[in-house]
Amino acid sequence: MKTKVWTVDVKRDLSTNCPQIAQAARLLQQNETVAFPTETVYGLGANAKHSEAVAKIYEAKGRPSDNPLIVHIAEIEQLAEFAEVDSPQAEMLMKRFWPGPLTLVLPCKPGVLSTRVTAGLDTVAVRMPDHPVALELIRQAGVPVAAPSANLSGKPSPTKAEHVVNDLNGRIAGVVDGGPTGVGVESTVVSCTGEIPVILRPGGVTKEQLEEAAGPVLIDQGLTDEKKAPMSPGMKYTHYAPEAPLAIVNGGVEDIQRLIDQYQKDGMKVGVLTTEERADVYQADAVRICGRRDRLETVAAGLYDVLRSFDEERLDFIFAESFPEEGVGRAIMNRLLKAAGHRVIEA
Ligand code: AMP
Ligand code: MG
Repeated sequence: MKTKVWTVDVKRDLSTNCPQIAQAARLLQQNETVAFPTETVYGLGANAKHSEAVAKIYEAKGRPSDNPLIVHIAEIEQLAEFAEVDSPQAEMLMKRFWPGPLTLVLPCKPGVLSTRVTAGLDTVAVRMPDHPVALELIRQAGVPVAAPSANLSGKPSPTKAEHVVNDLNGRIAGVVDGGPTGVGVESTVVSCTGEIPVILRPGGVTKEQLEEAAGPVLIDQGLTDEKKAPMSPGMKYTHYAPEAPLAIVNGGVEDIQRLIDQYQKDGMKVGVLTTEERADVYQADAVRICGRRDRLETVAAGLYDVLRSFDEERLDFIFAESFPEEGVGRAIMNRLLKAAGHRVIEA
């Protein structure tokens, strides 16, 4: 399969009829897969009502079939066709955060969506992305669009169209290139099927923001307690991993430099993930800067690109600084821990 790439200049092309998006939407209607930008990461979309279309997503990504997909909508009116909204908190959260990086897990109405989307569960994850290209594409496709991140399963999620092409060229029908994405980590997933909402995956919207809008919110214990299974099927899989093994270091600059020196002395090629504030302090084979520590949203925005960029260096080991688990820092640490396979060095 030849993968078509359409370039869309968000400012210039969307003010008129955009033939690139029309062509991409037609492919979705023909039950093909199309990758597109959202405000979080690039998604790989397919018609959520059609099982063969949805099967193509799992196949292209090599995604385990028990890991359900997020359904993307462009208008709130699309929701009632396939989901129940009987939780007052869900309504408040939608009103406050849609379009935006928040996914809600709601009871699913049977018989509308392909059962492959929900991996057979009786709930469905839904969100309305805050990106003009994504919204226009979904609108023109005229169907709810199932879309996980557009990477090979296990790799860091794509924040640029070139990441999608690197992973999926020849495996999907097309990519709409709308430039780099903004938030950089995936949506926050919140289950609204019980009395109190539960965060199943930390992301672009923080716990503090959720609580301000809808009252108390819990965090799935399975995310932090290794002995408990996570409530969200996808959270049990290894993810975001660069090719070289990675460890998070709880310690200062000197501790990390000492580890680098030690590993280099053993003949290893060593990388380090740090931020602008400490750009010049490390001596390593690859020093990668990811945003500013005093503005954690910039770390989130750059994280996957930096994780991917280590692969160019053919390293033997990578050390990453750790980040405070507050605000979007929770999502950053959740992704880093997965990238590290939970390897943490207490220095
Ligand atoms: P991705 O599409 O790769 O960003 O991942 C979507 C995340 O949402 C995965 O962790 C899924 O397991 C999770 N998810 C999707 N649908 C549901 C659902 N019905 N219940 C719980 N988690 C879900
Ligand atoms: Mg993903």
